[in-house]
Amino acid sequence: MDPLLDIREEAAAFTPYVAGLSIDEIKNRYGLTNVVKLASNENPLGTSPVVKKAVAESAEFAFRYTRHGNPELNAAIAGHLGVDAARVVCGNGSDEIIDLLCRVKPRPGLDNVVACKPCFSMYRSQTLLAGAEFRQVPIKDDFSFDWDGLAEACDDNTALVFVTSPDNPSGYAATAGELAAFARRLPPRALLVVDEAYVDFCDELDAFSLINRLDEFPNVAVTRTFSKAYGLAGLRLGYGVLPPALAEKLLACQIPFSVNQAALFGGLAALEDTVHLGETLRVTRTERERLTRELTALGCRVQPSQANFLLFAPPKSAKRVFEDLLARGVIIRPLASYGLDDSLRVSIGREDENTTFLQALKGVLA
Ligand SMILES: *Cc1c(COP(=O)(O)O)cnc(C)c1O
Repeated sequence: MDPLLDIREEAAAFTPYVAGLSIDEIKNRYGLTNVVKLASNENPLGTSPVVKKAVAESAEFAFRYTRHGNPELNAAIAGHLGVDAARVVCGNGSDEIIDLLCRVKPRPGLDNVVACKPCFSMYRSQTLLAGAEFRQVPIKDDFSFDWDGLAEACDDNTALVFVTSPDNPSGYAATAGELAAFARRLPPRALLVVDEAYVDFCDELDAFSLINRLDEFPNVAVTRTFSKAYGLAGLRLGYGVLPPALAEKLLACQIPFSVNQAALFGGLAALEDTVHLGETLRVTRTERERLTRELTALGCRVQPSQANFLLFAPPKSAKRVFEDLLARGVIIRPLASYGLDDSLRVSIGREDENTTFLQALKGVLA
């Protein structure tokens, strides 16, 4: 064996994240000029003009290191949420917060991390890379969570329990009451991490999130991102709202300056730009209703969703439908990697993009 490849077992076995296809890949493959991408739950309205201006201004300071731990951004986020700034840790996307939690909290070879099956692939990959055990509990047929099963999977060595709500790829959201009851059942070392990447799209925040009650729940953390509702996926900015003592440890272990100057300026501007956020939510909610209606009319089984995407089962082979849509210049997401072979996920786009998708689907199903 190549001695240079004699690496950690967890790294040798690591399976990398598989991202959605890019517009350029599909343009080249099929010789198309117009391609619509509704595969990665990005903001339908693009980057806000206010953020563009702020990012341009950040160029002036590109030669400077940022302040480690970005206290100004943390304070702005804390003010926006109404939480203590000592709870907030920002990262290079919320993926970095997930990774930090997995590297800081579970003891390698001893502890375990619990999540649903299927779930966001990052929980599994970063847990295993950190040398901890990963346990999964199947969700129910209606995409709700098996709280009893999750509680039973936990023991005194459970370090983290990840729950995504609203969930990806179903759009199902747990109620705040369910999250609260579950948090009370956990063993003392276990931290419940609610991944709220899509919570901004929910009909009513307090019905689905514990973010305003964290003082009541010392074993609950929340992760959020600027990648979806705030439209900064490419800038990479997310954060965790954590028990303060754990926040301090994460920050201590984090690579310095991981939130870059452009993300810092962009994030601060995005928080102030209530117009772009409001318009994003309006378009998403209106179009979520329309897509649900029209997909149902086309014979698809559509899951109710609190997020900016819809999971649906088409009346024909999902794999064929996905490939035929690609050939027509519409990229959505197949879900075979989630074990949902008969289903597809479509992000809610702008009205014109959604119409293009529906017309292409009509052709594919005809
Ligand atoms: C998109 C997404 C995120 C956000 O990732 P970032 O690193 O912040 O871009 C986190 N969790 C889930 C379940 C997601 O779908």
